[in-house]
Amino acid sequence: MGTRSRNAGEVDAARFRHIVAVSSDAFVETDVTGVVTAWSARAEAMFGWTASEVLGRSAEEFWVPHRFAQRYRSDLASALPGTELLPREVRLLHRGGEEMHVSIGGYVVEDRGRILIGGLVRDLGAERAAEEALAHAYLHDSLTGLPNRTLFTYRLAYALARGQRQPGSVAVLVLDLDRFKAINDALGHEVGDEVLVAVASRLVEADGVAEVIARLGGDEFLVLFDGDEAEQLAKEFSHRVLEALEQPIPVAGSEVFVTASIGIASTGGSVPEATPLLSDADTAMYVAKQRGGASYHVFGEALRVEVLDRLTTEHALHRALERGELRLFYQPVVEVADARPVAVEALLRWDHPDQGLVAPSRFIPVAEESGLIIPIGTWVLREACTQLQAWWGDGRASRPVELIGSASGAAPDTTIEVNLSARQIDHLDLVDTVEGILVGTGVPPANLTLEITESALMKDPAAALTVLRALKDLGVMLAIDDFGTGYSSLSYLQRFPLDILKIDKSFVDGLGIEPGGTEIVGAIINLAHTLGMQVIAEGVETDRQLHHLRLMSCDLAQGFLFSKPVPASQIPPGSMGGAVPAGGSAASAGRW
Ligand code: C2E
Ligand code: MG
Ligand code: MG
Repeated sequence: MGTRSRNAGEVDAARFRHIVAVSSDAFVETDVTGVVTAWSARAEAMFGWTASEVLGRSAEEFWVPHRFAQRYRSDLASALPGTELLPREVRLLHRGGEEMHVSIGGYVVEDRGRILIGGLVRDLGAERAAEEALAHAYLHDSLTGLPNRTLFTYRLAYALARGQRQPGSVAVLVLDLDRFKAINDALGHEVGDEVLVAVASRLVEADGVAEVIARLGGDEFLVLFDGDEAEQLAKEFSHRVLEALEQPIPVAGSEVFVTASIGIASTGGSVPEATPLLSDADTAMYVAKQRGGASYHVFGEALRVEVLDRLTTEHALHRALERGELRLFYQPVVEVADARPVAVEALLRWDHPDQGLVAPSRFIPVAEESGLIIPIGTWVLREACTQLQAWWGDGRASRPVELIGSASGAAPDTTIEVNLSARQIDHLDLVDTVEGILVGTGVPPANLTLEITESALMKDPAAALTVLRALKDLGVMLAIDDFGTGYSSLSYLQRFPLDILKIDKSFVDGLGIEPGGTEIVGAIINLAHTLGMQVIAEGVETDRQLHHLRLMSCDLAQGFLFSKPVPASQIPPGSMGGAVPAGGSAASAGRW
């Protein structure tokens, strides 16, 4: 048989051809000068060149970039027969001009005195495309196509590392849309997404020289600038972006306007780490936001000091809660008609080990920002309710059951008024917390008034409405505090289940002094009465103010004229309209 008559070499060659024919890899062979000596059918299919076009030409012509061919040539020159060439990823030119990602591995043989290099070429195109798509998805935001936080972080780390060698500066810009939540809530998430895409393209259009423009998620964008002028570039970019956003964004057949708050922080030559740089930019952005948005702010030394101060306070406040340094002071609320106390407002103080009594305005904002207001607020509620029970116990406050048909029949229930912050209203557990404390201390719900400032209510009126209704279902009383300072919408004022309106001190100050001052207070009182609310005038300091309030049928008043806030122990027995001890009278306790 023919097969038997063939020598071993011929059998190998036939097998080899067969393998080459069925392999998905292309077979290519060259001599040591790079001249192509074999080009398989698969190679024809892969590269578009036919064997007749390629054989005898130098393989170097197909290498991209061309300079790699030189390395290839020196590899070939040093090739020793019997060596194996490990697969290497290279790019080769297709006949159509495209670059192809391939891997080439091979061997070196000596054939009848010639050294030949056989190579198996694998097309990595599909693999590469999949990898690239994956890498792109990993590093980009799917909604806007912008780089995402991960890619931004890499680039920032790189810029900072470079900055270490060359003293250039790196600037980071944080952009957050103003009131974006309102757009989302009012127009739906799809419109919200359209707005984000439009903002992204305006950022890209406004760009001159940013290293990266990234979307962090939500309505937050990050931009990186690198180089000596980084901070200046960031400022110029901000101007262009703020201006670009003045044009309405067309969405769903209509238009919306958005504004943005921008914060900028830069290394200015020194090299801090990425995290403080980003948080500095964030802090600056919040300053822009607090100033009403639609602007940018650059993080500076003053802000650094302020932030440090705040951090110190925050740290100390943590300790204050643990070590019991918080105190409640109490200020009576009296009937305007006869100055009889009917309620007390609990006001928080911090008995600081070094600074003595610290007023709430100095630490409540920090507590709100850090979230500490949640445990602090819970403490205040429990402490105030416990104190009310204690007063009832020793007869200083009028106990609700005793009032029914009691001798001093006119004395209303004493209620305790507790201030809530916006953060507490946002917190899911608020209603449960209040209910738990009422049950735990045995204070009837109607004897607890929760005060919420007008500005806190108006931050997110729709959400506030839900919480107020749930609180009202518990049976507690609700008051709107600092009224007149928060731009209430009348329609909401009407829908909130409020029992009490507290007129802000700034209006009371104007009674009988500022032109129109008395009329404004009169109008507020009438409005409240129309809506079925009782009115408390805050910060009453003079008899003249009290006189005006009386004329305008204001129900209740509170202020230094009657008493400053004092510790519980300084509230004299009988002063709360409760059981009157011998020798005292409720009326005589009008001024503490
Ligand atoms: P607010 O609830 O409107 O309380 C009234 C503030 O006016 C109190 O200041 C009180 O001491 C002061 N005040 C009362 N009468 C007069 C007066 O005749 N003249 C003057 N000049 N001031 C008067 P305070 O205690 O410093 O509290 C300031 C604010 O801090 C409170 O305003 C309230 O919004 C907040 N706050 C106090 N305690 C708490 C608390 O436990 N939780 C929360 N979230 N906020 C609290
Ligand atoms: Mg209050
Ligand atoms: Mg107030």
